[in-house]
Amino acid sequence: MFLKNCIKNKMVKSPQRISKIRYLMNTFFEIEVLCERYSSIIEIAFGEIKRLERLLSRFQNESEISLVNCAAGNSPIKVSDETLNLIKSSLKFSSITDGGFNITICPLVELWKLAEEKNGVPTEEEIKNVISLIDFKEIEVEEVKKTVFLKKKGMKIDLGAIGKGYAVDRAIKILKENGITQAMVNAGGNLYILGEHIGGNPSSIGIPNPLKPDEIIAKIDLTDRAISTSGNYERFFTIDGRQFGHIINPVTGYPENRVLSVSIVADTAIKADALSTGILVMGFERGMKLIESLNNVEGIIITNNKEDGMQIDISEGLKGKGISKYV
Ligand code: FAD
Ligand code: MG
Repeated sequence: MFLKNCIKNKMVKSPQRISKIRYLMNTFFEIEVLCERYSSIIEIAFGEIKRLERLLSRFQNESEISLVNCAAGNSPIKVSDETLNLIKSSLKFSSITDGGFNITICPLVELWKLAEEKNGVPTEEEIKNVISLIDFKEIEVEEVKKTVFLKKKGMKIDLGAIGKGYAVDRAIKILKENGITQAMVNAGGNLYILGEHIGGNPSSIGIPNPLKPDEIIAKIDLTDRAISTSGNYERFFTIDGRQFGHIINPVTGYPENRVLSVSIVADTAIKADALSTGILVMGFERGMKLIESLNNVEGIIITNNKEDGMQIDISEGLKGKGISKYV
């Protein structure tokens, strides 16, 4: 027994930083953990993200979201508790962002995607026709029967602005349940830092310069916090040589371009993801007001100021605390 313990103790290694990257949900997911010996925990967390992709992707025909979309205007579809809850959360975010965040945006996203393929901006008439399908109040959720019904034919749900945040939260939960106390899960800039940052450098989360995305404009100190940045500089539709951002204003039907980027720091990644998209649509004034009114939510809004170039506004809770450096 004594010998066994000695051998066991001798084998104890100092914690190692292990990091893996997978391409899921059309995004590079990186999971980094600090643990004493290699464990399959990272694979289990990736398995969870893959499971969520199968459940929630509008790009996969068998997903619950695709089944709901296919039955629009026709019949309610019974879904899992998880999908039901995520749709209910989405409706809550729509309500607090005054409809800026809207998961019924899909037909407009598809119209702009088609416009890119045809290389011609959609006509006013086309946009007007499609806008009639964009209305989160036309999603009927039946709690008891556990069904979701899109009331108008042609309506479609797109969880692109919230699903990655939810996946990050689920992966972090799994890591925590398995005894990990220091980790990072990063879904293409939508990330959560569990515990002290693994690199030992607390200020290592960079906010990209929306005009030169390879540059970092500010760095922020995060512990047990999520951050998500939404902007129209990374993903866009290219039509006739012009770039149109992928975040669409549900009221005008056009890609939103008044704000360059919105970064939200929050206690959960789902909140950061949904709010960064919704607030980008709301614009600076209403958006910053909303950030200041919410608990556990802080933000950085970057706008194009014609006189000074870029204007960076920071919510009260981050001033002098979170932001450690401007470049
Ligand atoms: P965010 O700001 O978080 O979200 C922007 C995206 O949300 C837009 O691209 C659009 O889809 C949608 N959106 C636009 N305007 C609004 C609005 N006003 N309110 C709400 N939503 C809006 N992409 C593929 O090309 N192929 C795939 O197979 C694929 N699978 C996916 C599976 C899942 C489960 C998820 C969640 C996403 C998937 N994506 C896929 C989408 C891809 O990852 C998105 O481009 C990405 O989610 C956009 O995230 P973001 O953080 O860059 O921007
Ligand atoms: Mg988002």
